[in-house]
Amino acid sequence: RAKEKGRNNFQFFTEDMNKLAKETLFLENNLRKAIDNQELALHYQPQVEIVSGQIIGMEALVRWHHPKLGIIPPNKFIPMAEETGLIIPLGKWVIHTACHQNLQWQKAGLSPGKVAVNISPRQFRQSDLVKTVAQALAASGLEAKWLELEITENVLVDDLTPTIAVMEDLNTMGVSLAIDDFGTGYSSLNYLHRFPLSKLKIDQSFVQSIGEPMGKHAIVEAIIALARALDLEVIAEGIENQTHIAFLKRHGCRYGQGFYFSKPLPQKAFEQFLLRAQQPQHTHPENP
Ligand code: C2E
Ligand code: MG
Ligand code: MG
Ligand code: MG
Repeated sequence: RAKEKGRNNFQFFTEDMNKLAKETLFLENNLRKAIDNQELALHYQPQVEIVSGQIIGMEALVRWHHPKLGIIPPNKFIPMAEETGLIIPLGKWVIHTACHQNLQWQKAGLSPGKVAVNISPRQFRQSDLVKTVAQALAASGLEAKWLELEITENVLVDDLTPTIAVMEDLNTMGVSLAIDDFGTGYSSLNYLHRFPLSKLKIDQSFVQSIGEPMGKHAIVEAIIALARALDLEVIAEGIENQTHIAFLKRHGCRYGQGFYFSKPLPQKAFEQFLLRAQQPQHTHPENP
């Protein structure tokens, strides 16, 4: 009976796995082509100095316009791209496109600030990340100070010495580093000061809990204080309303990003956003 039960379990398991494997294989085959077929696009979300409303930069977020399935969000294919290694060519395309776009906007006089690019753990660990970044900067002509890389805490739990070495190479080049989704990973506070970082991004789950009865206000305050103590910049992600803004301002969080300012926008729409921001009559939602 045990054997029978075991076999049933096994069958149940394989059917499930089969479906998942098929879906993954389907997406994987399609993603390979997507890069060549120009089905990928970057959307851009502004990063803002909260008090002044001034745009300090933007985060590049990849979208996949599948000819049949429509827009596929990154959470649906980035993990798969990580597992299969497709993240390497995909990531290269993202870095190149983001650098190129930033320089185009600078040339058009739109003052886009820095562009922040997400780097997944596998990309970071890949031996030639530094070379890839250097090539993207050279090919686009963008100055390194206009590029920021967002890494997650997962990267910080790797071997300290090689991780710091890569970060230092990037810093030497002039590229800055931010920790994305800060507070949700397992990195040790004990080592945080050893990494050559510029910025902590307070995870949106904390920010969005502001104003709620069980809100994680203490965590938000603690991250702001930690950033100040370590002399790092701090930006709150996922700001959606005035309650979030008021709290962040009160606790001295300098920078913000979220739907309150703007959703991530396609290239043309972001251009319009930058143009509007330059007009003297422009009023920030803060001071209507
Ligand atoms: P992330 O880097 O933490 O990006 C922030 C995510 O929060 C984005 O989702 C953004 O659209 C969303 N967001 C921004 N403001 C708000 C807000 O006020 N409210 C809410 N509810 N959401 C907000 P998106 O674009 O779907 O990206 C999801 C994740 O996919 C990113 O999280 C990042 O980890 C990954 N990703 C996106 N583009 C890339 C890429 O080019 N390379 C890599 N490796 N990962 C990427
Ligand atoms: Mg990010
Ligand atoms: Mg994030
Ligand atoms: Mg995230």
